[in-house]
Amino acid sequence: MHADLIIVGAGMVGSTLALALEGTGLDIVVVDGGPLEVSPFDAQAPFEPRVSALSAASQRILERVGAWPGIAARRASPYTDMQVWDGSGTGQVHFCAASVHAPVLGHIVENRVVQDALVERLRERGSVRLLADARLEQLRRSGDEWLLTLEDGQQIRTPLLVAADGANSAVRRLSGCETREWDYLHHAIVTSVRCRESHRLTAWQRFTDDGPLAFLPLTRDGDTHGCSIVWSVPEREAERLMALDDAAFCQALGRAFETRLGEVEHADPRLCIPLRQRHAKRYVQQGLALIGDAAHTIHPLAGQGVNLGLLDAAVLAEVLQAALRRGEQPGDLRVLSRFERRRMPHNLSMMAAMEGFERLFQADPLPLRWLRNSGLKLVETLPGAKAMFVRQALGLSGDLPELARA
Ligand SMILES: Cc1cc2nc3c(=O)[nH]c(=O)nc-3n(C[C@H](O)[C@H](O)[C@H](O)COP(=O)(O)OP(=O)(O)OC[C@H]3O[C@@H](n4cnc5c(N)ncnc54)[C@H](O)[C@@H]3O)c2cc1C
Repeated sequence: MHADLIIVGAGMVGSTLALALEGTGLDIVVVDGGPLEVSPFDAQAPFEPRVSALSAASQRILERVGAWPGIAARRASPYTDMQVWDGSGTGQVHFCAASVHAPVLGHIVENRVVQDALVERLRERGSVRLLADARLEQLRRSGDEWLLTLEDGQQIRTPLLVAADGANSAVRRLSGCETREWDYLHHAIVTSVRCRESHRLTAWQRFTDDGPLAFLPLTRDGDTHGCSIVWSVPEREAERLMALDDAAFCQALGRAFETRLGEVEHADPRLCIPLRQRHAKRYVQQGLALIGDAAHTIHPLAGQGVNLGLLDAAVLAEVLQAALRRGEQPGDLRVLSRFERRRMPHNLSMMAAMEGFERLFQADPLPLRWLRNSGLKLVETLPGAKAMFVRQALGLSGDLPELARA
């Protein structure tokens, strides 16, 4: 088999790229190791543990590629406010969408919902060949092309390969792309909970001595007592918390959250995910580009991972479309480097900011504690600084691709 472009990974990022490239005339194949089945949506089903806080920029991209109606028809929980505070001090900041005349700051959406809406759209349009249960096993250069061998022995050739196969990208490993990586020695416990009080359409984040704890608002049929939690703690503490029975876990969680939303009344089954930051030294080679988590995995602290990935997909689509209009070869390293130049500085600055936050809030020495408390108080009192942070949360600052512009 041959294709002009192969995307490995039909996750949120790879599927978005495939949709964004429709109409370019490129013959595109998307391969994924999973079944790519769109499960019928059950509005009464419990929330999936893995959710993403999608920014306004991500919403625009998903609207433009035609996946947002499928997301909205399933479920997406809007949030208008954000409360951030230091658990061992008095500093706190409150951000709200109204301060920049925006209707919402973003939406909390289950990853499965985004994925299903994207795959549904790809199947409806039918212009991209989707290969499900097709795990990439081997990859090598063959003349000017890449030769991919799938699990079932099938081979596909292409002059342009995009890796969207997630944090443990096989494409990245098999093509020899180097990464810088470090372990946070922290694990994230994720699950959905029910609190006694309403979440008030607010995303809550408390910096505890162990790490950040987020309560992200989930709304179902007007009920605003559900939250998705991401609780980042050292490995040992994660083991302890995972071993607790449900009642003891809810109690520990409520305490760690200063019962800001009253008692935690119920928790769904928990997932524990090791946290590792990873960044590819280069995103591109001749005929190859890395996007999404295959290029960078970032601390979930700011809920930015998939937002960065969707911007990668939108910028890569824009760069390839412009190259095709000019009659250039889309897999040419000079073309792909334009994508890298636009995305790497943005991704790196976001990662550095998260790293700085993580360290500042984990640090115990008194001067650092003073600094973070004063910093939060300062941001709270400076309207200009606050508006800047709100625009960051909306994802509407910096060099935006056409798909993310108003
Ligand atoms: C605890 C936690 C909380 C998070 N919260 C947020 C948040 O609030 N907001 C946010 O923006 N981000 C968040 N993230 C990050 C976000 O989940 C990721 O950035 C996002 O899932 C990456 O999407 P992706 O499409 O790049 O990769 P993935 O979602 O990992 O998709 C990769 C795809 O590639 C396929 N694949 C893998 N290997 C192969 C192979 N060898 N052959 C073929 N196919 C293959 C897989 O089947 C999968 O479909 C969070 C992450 C964690 C860990």
